[in-house]
Amino acid sequence: MKAFKNIKSLNLEELKTWLKSFEEKPYRAEQIQNWLFVNQVRSTAEMVNLPASILSKLDESFYLHSLSESQKHTSTDGTIKWLFKTHDSFYIETVMIPTNGRYSVCVSTQVGCAMGCTFCRTAKMGFLRNLEAGEILEQIIRVNWHLEDSNSLSREGLAAKVTNIIFMGMGEPLNNLDNVHRTCSILHQQKLFNMGKKRMTISTSGIVPKIKELVDRNTPCCLAVSLNSSNNQQRSSVMPVNDVWPIEALLEATDEYTRRTGNYVTFEFVLIKNITCTKEAAKELVRICAPRRCKVNAIALNDGDNNSLQTPSEIEIEAFLEIVRAAKIQITMRTPRGRDIFAACGQLAHKQGKESC
Ligand code: SAH
Ligand code: SF4
Repeated sequence: MKAFKNIKSLNLEELKTWLKSFEEKPYRAEQIQNWLFVNQVRSTAEMVNLPASILSKLDESFYLHSLSESQKHTSTDGTIKWLFKTHDSFYIETVMIPTNGRYSVCVSTQVGCAMGCTFCRTAKMGFLRNLEAGEILEQIIRVNWHLEDSNSLSREGLAAKVTNIIFMGMGEPLNNLDNVHRTCSILHQQKLFNMGKKRMTISTSGIVPKIKELVDRNTPCCLAVSLNSSNNQQRSSVMPVNDVWPIEALLEATDEYTRRTGNYVTFEFVLIKNITCTKEAAKELVRICAPRRCKVNAIALNDGDNNSLQTPSEIEIEAFLEIVRAAKIQITMRTPRGRDIFAACGQLAHKQGKESC
């Protein structure tokens, strides 16, 4: 078996060190990154300004691509969901959501997830492994290939490209912060993907020390926090993470984030019938949000394979929103995308996670 490393996981310095190990010039590292992240090549044969000696070393030491397309489903609303197989036969999902000329990609950061939220299908898989930066970047590149192949044109008439990245696929991004930070840094570089901070959002279930680390590392991204419930008892009943870092600790971390970065936090809020979507819960949410600079992104529960949790009715949702809006809290109701192909929030999962031999 090939010594594993996806070439796209390496940063510029690491590429230079690798080249130096067989006495190649450091400037080749920029050329390699240019092929990988600007031209987004599909084979080493396209990397025409690199000598055969480097290309054969590259083939020996790394995977150029380590994901293969296993399935692809297109929703009636244009959302596309891919099932990719990793080099070691794990399965991950990636979702592309087109909206008014923008193409957002929801990437997976782990195979499965360890956090055990009761409303989420990914939780059922358990945690299988972290994804490397190269595997996260490859999901975005694969979507760009799709846009190129399907001749999608942007408003300017140029070939469309992914415009926004949301780290909201399978997994808890902050439990894989090294690789997620590395991914964001490569995406943010002007000479590579040139993806602005505001176009990348990391969503976390609330790993408090890692929120602090995100600030310390100055990871170029926005932060969304899955608050999902505004009182500890309820939150703990659906999100076990709340037993470790309850709402007070979480808010202290998000307040520090806002103070130190100048950016507000988006609170995600899953509306579950009789649990998080009640008038009392709306009032508690107001108490949390009123003194803070924040936004709330509410979403009605998607079928998460848990029969004891139900989606609220339109009337219940409206009653909830009315209370929050009356308090002048900025709240948007997220329209579910790709529900028909199980691509919506909380619906990403693979039966086994790993192919059995
Ligand atoms: N692990 C991270 C990111 C992936 S989950 C996190 O939890 O934030 C992405 C979002 O989907 C989270 O806000 C989560 O609360 C939401 N979600 C999970 N299951 C859902 C479901 N069944 N219906 C609606 N949203 C769900
Ligand atoms: Fe993991 Fe997020 Fe699903 Fe919770 S909601 S189990 S943290 S992926």
